[in-house]
Amino acid sequence: MDLLEQWWPLFVFVPLAAVLGWVIGRRGGEHHRDRQVSKLSTTYFRGLNYLLNEQPDKAIELFLHVAELDKDTFETQVALGHLFRRRGEVDRAIRLHQALAQRPDLSDTQKIQALSALGEDYMRAGLLDRAETVFNDLAQLDQRAPQALRHLIAIYQAERDWEKAIANARRYEQATGEPMGRLIAHFECELADRHRSNGDAAAARAAVARAYAADPVSVRAGIIEGRLDAEAGNTQAAIRALERAARHDPEFLPVILPLLLENYEQTGDRSGARAFLSEMCEHYRGIAPVLALTRMLEAEEGVGAARRYLGQQLKDRPSVRGEAALIDLTLAEGADARATLHDLKHITDQLLVRNPSYRCNRCGFGARSHHWQCPSCKEWGTVKPLLNYAVV
Ligand SMILES: [Zn+2]
Repeated sequence: MDLLEQWWPLFVFVPLAAVLGWVIGRRGGEHHRDRQVSKLSTTYFRGLNYLLNEQPDKAIELFLHVAELDKDTFETQVALGHLFRRRGEVDRAIRLHQALAQRPDLSDTQKIQALSALGEDYMRAGLLDRAETVFNDLAQLDQRAPQALRHLIAIYQAERDWEKAIANARRYEQATGEPMGRLIAHFECELADRHRSNGDAAAARAAVARAYAADPVSVRAGIIEGRLDAEAGNTQAAIRALERAARHDPEFLPVILPLLLENYEQTGDRSGARAFLSEMCEHYRGIAPVLALTRMLEAEEGVGAARRYLGQQLKDRPSVRGEAALIDLTLAEGADARATLHDLKHITDQLLVRNPSYRCNRCGFGARSHHWQCPSCKEWGTVKPLLNYAVV
């Protein structure tokens, strides 16, 4: 992000400068316009100078002036429209690109270029239906289709029209060879959620199946499938779906666990739940499966056993949530708290060592010791002590 913000003038102006350079070069052959050429070159280099000195506003003013001198050249007008849009004058950009797209003397490539620019103006102005029309026309014209399709996917996402988003993602995949399965699976899951909340379980299941077809390891499809099974009273199937989802990406375990444990609760299959949680402890470094096991232990063997187990586990995976649970168990146990205090001291020391205590508020660099100059972005005085620990 920082990088993009820093360098956007280059992305905008280097192509523009190239166009202006071309305009100037083209005019070089016309001897009677030598004076204007030299004026343009001077302006061009002044603009370039502003850019190199990171004064984009001054450069924009200058390039606007140059572009207005050359009203007939297609490239200059497209660039001028881009500048208007860049400065937030979207209406002006739209008017300019509209007029340009309607010019009868355009080649196919130019027509496509003008329409692309117009579509992007509409996107920027939030006129999604108009952008949709333009990009659909463009997608028919083939050549620039991938870019138009990308915009169409973005538009249909914003409009939450998932069927059309899916159709265009497929077209994009065919046009570019870039795999879109993960994205399509999310769109199908959006459809599944919609059908589910409308009470149409069959349609929701069909969408889940299509999501799996698009992305066989979709965690989200597994979670929706688990919900559908649970709602249909099919607890065992729900457990299978949710466990499969967790195995596909254990990092989503905290999202999956509440529903999974609810289903285990209904079956009364404690050993099955324990086996799965122990398996997850191996693949997931967070505290969620340990806390679930602690609660089961508390119910089966009492507070003391749960407290000892949690205290032991937290030495390997220090966590603030774990510490809170350990304190609760110690209070509930009502016994001597000295053993717990020793555990808490050990765990807290580890948390302090593992987590950065200072962060640069310019670039986000984290450090364990203080630096007056940020080692990452080299800014002075931006690395400050962190006020709170977000430790899971
Ligand atoms: Zn920094």
